[in-house]
Amino acid sequence: MALDDLYREVILDHYSHPRNKGELPDPDIKVEGANPLCGDELSIYVKLDGGRVADVRFVGRGCSISQASASMMTEQIKGKTIDEARALAGRFKAMMQGEPVSQDELGELMALQGVRKFPVRVKCASLSWVALEQGMDEFETAKGKVSARASSEQP
Ligand code: ZN
Repeated sequence: MALDDLYREVILDHYSHPRNKGELPDPDIKVEGANPLCGDELSIYVKLDGGRVADVRFVGRGCSISQASASMMTEQIKGKTIDEARALAGRFKAMMQGEPVSQDELGELMALQGVRKFPVRVKCASLSWVALEQGMDEFETAKGKVSARASSEQP
């Protein structure tokens, strides 16, 4: 199917040429995530400015899905507020759970929707987003700004 081919191309392109790869000095958020089932590891660095993601980078190793997903995530959240990034993480996880989502909401991230057919790989695709959410939680806790929504969310 042509769309599947296109999505595969997008994933392979991000895996072969990861965007925003490397460490970030003095990050506001630094968080690590691991998926021992597959051997995926990620460290994510976020620099905030005026409540927005001014810069974000990652380092990691693991399967193509986990690394491509992290690369795509960095492109998608740059310039967003923490709340906007959280909302996008929510939509991404909804897509992984098989809920209907639209191109308008997720853009290029739609390329990863085929992964949901393979439950083992869903963790690979979600690793960067789960780690990002954890990092944002830790940041807001440190700032004493945890919202009621965040604290009522189930892990
Ligand atoms: Zn993996």
